[in-house]
Amino acid sequence: MERSRIIIVGGGIGGLACALALAQRGIASIVLERSAEFKEVGAGIQLGANVFKMFERLGLADEIAASAWFPDKLVMMDALSGEPVVTSTLGETYRARFGFSYGVIHRADLHQTLLSACHQYGVELLTHADVAHIAQTASQVEVVCSDGRRVAGRVLVGADGLWSKVRQLVLGDGPPRVSGHIAYRGVLPRSAVPAHLWSPSVVLWAGPKTHLVHYPLRSGKLFNLVAVFHSDQYSEGWDAAADSAELHAKFAQAQPVVRELLSRIDTWKMWVLCDREPITNWSHGLITLLGDAAHPMLQYLAAGAGMAIEDAWVLARCLAQTPDNPAQALLDYQNQRYLRTGRVQYAARFFGELYHASGVARELRKQLLGGSRAAGADNPMAWLYDGIE
Ligand SMILES: Cc1cc2nc3c(=O)[nH]c(=O)nc-3n(C[C@H](O)[C@H](O)[C@H](O)COP(=O)(O)OP(=O)(O)OC[C@H]3O[C@@H](n4cnc5c(N)ncnc54)[C@H](O)[C@@H]3O)c2cc1C
Repeated sequence: MERSRIIIVGGGIGGLACALALAQRGIASIVLERSAEFKEVGAGIQLGANVFKMFERLGLADEIAASAWFPDKLVMMDALSGEPVVTSTLGETYRARFGFSYGVIHRADLHQTLLSACHQYGVELLTHADVAHIAQTASQVEVVCSDGRRVAGRVLVGADGLWSKVRQLVLGDGPPRVSGHIAYRGVLPRSAVPAHLWSPSVVLWAGPKTHLVHYPLRSGKLFNLVAVFHSDQYSEGWDAAADSAELHAKFAQAQPVVRELLSRIDTWKMWVLCDREPITNWSHGLITLLGDAAHPMLQYLAAGAGMAIEDAWVLARCLAQTPDNPAQALLDYQNQRYLRTGRVQYAARFFGELYHASGVARELRKQLLGGSRAAGADNPMAWLYDGIE
């Protein structure tokens, strides 16, 4: 019985979505999480119609909608001039075009929703399970945790994020690429944001080698800020304490409203942003990768978690369709996913360049993106938001 289950390494958004998608198809799994509890750090996350399509299939649509915020627009402002660059209408226009909404949600709420659903399905969830070694034969995989515990299963899914141990054990392709871009994140209560700084939209202030994004969270009770800038000070890190002096220096040329927004947050959390070149071969025998472990991307398309959730759905479908040949199912899954996720990886880099443009590139940005856009048939992001079959 135990050997027929799927082992999932990593209980983040991707790992839990995978356990849930498998459970819905009657496939048992065990999730091994190295942390002391299943938990996500506090910050916002944007989710396109392609992800809401997945929530509906996973039976989570109502619960997600209850804690999400549905912005009316995506707005890009020029942080130097204070002029709008482009406005994209969301709301009903977007929903009519893509069939589902565009929303933002607190990561902890999304993670908790997935966790509760996993509990309801009786998914086995193990904490303090830091996977250190993996061995596979033709018919089973066995992991050894750093405390010596052993877990066996019929397939192993590495959903262990950007610094994936499973990826290193299987592919051995070294650490991810450090982009030189740093993200500072902070969340404020609604009451700490004066009316002239608050907006119901997702607003992005684009400046030379910097940008600031803000939007409401938790049905409008919170206000999320993400400030990104180029820096060569850091080589790696995750959820580290931030250096506010560097942040304020980088945004010194930005409009007063941007600087005022930044000054509202006392304690920031810092992320060093990394990605990798897309690959085509992340399944090896009975082991595969999912989410950031398979295709880490810069966050400029706000799509990494969405891609992990889509991965989960496709992987579960492939395993259900080919129950007697799991190695083939893992190849089918990888082959159905790598072009779409690779496109997001490349497009995210390109959008980062646009957001952080100066000089001629800044003028071109206005020419390329400029104006006001409804979510019509010619929406340039339709390839992403239309989602998967
Ligand atoms: C600044 C920023 C903004 C972003 N904004 C968005 C957005 O708006 N929309 C969006 O869709 N995406 C966004 N993303 C991307 C998104 O956060 C990631 O793509 C997503 O969290 C990936 O989920 P995952 O489950 O693959 O990995 P992770 O969330 O990294 O989870 C990995 C899990 O594995 C565990 N683990 C690691 N190693 C081991 C081990 N050896 N043994 C056991 N467990 C282990 C970890 O503790 C963790 O719980 C953003 C990212 C950043 C940095």
